[in-house]
Amino acid sequence: METKEPATIKEALEEILDTGKLRYCFECGICTASCSISGMLGKDYNPRELLEKIVLSPEKALTSDMPWLCAWCYRCHERCPQALRLPEIFLLIRTIAARQGETRPLDNALQKIVKNIPLPLVTLSLCFHPERAGLDKRAVLEKAERIRDKTPEMREAKNVYKKQKVAVLGSGPAGLTVAHELSLKGYNVTVYESLKEPGGMLRKCIPNSRLPKQILAKEIQFLRDLGVNFKTSTTVGKDLALEDLRKDGYKAFFVGVGAQRSARLRIEGAELKGVINALDFLWNVNSGERIEVGRNVVVIGGGNTAVDAARTALQLGAREVTILYRRSRDEMPAIPWEVKEAEDEGVRIELLVSPKRILGENGKASAVECVRMQLGELDETGRRASTPLEGSDFSRKTDMIILAVGEAPDLGFLPKQLEVNDNGTLWVDHTTMETSIQGVFAGGDAVTGPATVIEAIRAGKNAAESIHNYLESLEG
Ligand SMILES: Cc1cc2nc3c(=O)[nH]c(=O)nc-3n(C[C@H](O)[C@H](O)[C@H](O)COP(=O)(O)OP(=O)(O)OC[C@H]3O[C@@H](n4cnc5c(N)ncnc54)[C@H](O)[C@@H]3O)c2cc1C
Ligand code: SF4
Ligand code: SF4
Repeated sequence: METKEPATIKEALEEILDTGKLRYCFECGICTASCSISGMLGKDYNPRELLEKIVLSPEKALTSDMPWLCAWCYRCHERCPQALRLPEIFLLIRTIAARQGETRPLDNALQKIVKNIPLPLVTLSLCFHPERAGLDKRAVLEKAERIRDKTPEMREAKNVYKKQKVAVLGSGPAGLTVAHELSLKGYNVTVYESLKEPGGMLRKCIPNSRLPKQILAKEIQFLRDLGVNFKTSTTVGKDLALEDLRKDGYKAFFVGVGAQRSARLRIEGAELKGVINALDFLWNVNSGERIEVGRNVVVIGGGNTAVDAARTALQLGAREVTILYRRSRDEMPAIPWEVKEAEDEGVRIELLVSPKRILGENGKASAVECVRMQLGELDETGRRASTPLEGSDFSRKTDMIILAVGEAPDLGFLPKQLEVNDNGTLWVDHTTMETSIQGVFAGGDAVTGPATVIEAIRAGKNAAESIHNYLESLEG
């Protein structure tokens, strides 16, 4: 959906009804059922109801805080039978409200975000995006920080007596959320993290241009002030085992180790110089290493990692950056608005193209040989399978190839009796977030595979609630 600047509410509504296909909404409620924010805010956020309000009384929608509570994850769009693009519909309402100087809805939304959603500064930057409605993001973040400073539960929690010990493995948004929720409830939480500094993908791979590291640092400091302990440069399974932690008095565990292992592209030439894995590339950039980018960069993949790698390569001075993706745009796992922003910045996207082999000159990648693809029936992942179009081979010159063909959890360090799904993710009971071992809970990308920050936070909130119930049951 194109998001033009609407002149009036009526014009905007017409635009939404037609281009946004709002008139075709079945009111089935699948969007609300699949929404992490609804899951966390309950009746305070209901996208289906908001759509109805937009149709029946758009003026009321303008004064509602709901449009400001959408976290741009597009899960509703993926599952909606009519493929409505809800975040983009809500953006029009946000934009008009902001243009009319209607500040109360955002203020009310900020109160709800700060009170109910851990890491508000991170989520405002990466999920809620007030700037997309033309607002000054930094001013909104400052407002959220002031609200947090004044929230009594947050202030008082810093002085609460800390009871049983809980170990959190991994410091991404899922682990940080568990630490936040349980320390507010008075537990003694320690987060174990392999890297030198906490934050998971927020620190490791998401570019500074989208999430400045000082924002993440503020969130971590907030958690430290709540009493959360961080043991960084400590890999569970290598430096110590889960059993060591049990012996050390930990009563419950949360596994939030993400999906950190890059899938390998098994084609000829993948080992040539000039071919780099996207997570390594982004990690090198984020850790301040000097990176030589090629002039003509090809990124292979269609997820958030591929999009960020492409944008970063362009920012680092590449002349031309092209993403090659084997399926169609609708199947790209990346967040659609991020894809749009990447294209606006100059990243080219070639769809229905698959690499066959990488060609080299003097040991260095010089071209990628590709084949065009066509879409067929739905495969086991629920996406349409892509098959090569015979005789459509072509080759594209390049001096740098960034591979972003998927990530999976690295769970080899966990006890063997922990059940793992066929796709390599960790099995949990989705009501309690408990794994197949009692007292060990899990959530985030380790359970879902690569997903979004807001989904990791929701999983962390659910798991923290279950851990609390579990520990209370131990106390009898
Ligand atoms: C490049 C990129 C861009 C993205 N952009 C967006 C975006 O714009 N919006 C969005 O919503 N989502 C985005 N995502 C997805 C989002 O970052 C993830 O869904 C989210 O971070 C998952 O959180 P998590 O807590 O499950 O795991 P992670 O963030 O992956 O954190 C897991 C942590 O566990 C640590 N760990 C692993 N094993 C061990 C061990 N054995 N012992 C101790 N520590 C361990 C890791 O070092 C890591 O720090 C992006 C992802 C990537 C890669
Ligand atoms: S899932 Fe789609 S069709 Fe169903 S209520 Fe939501 S927007 Fe309407
Ligand atoms: S984009 Fe995400 S947060 Fe927004 S309504 Fe859809 S599911 Fe909910």
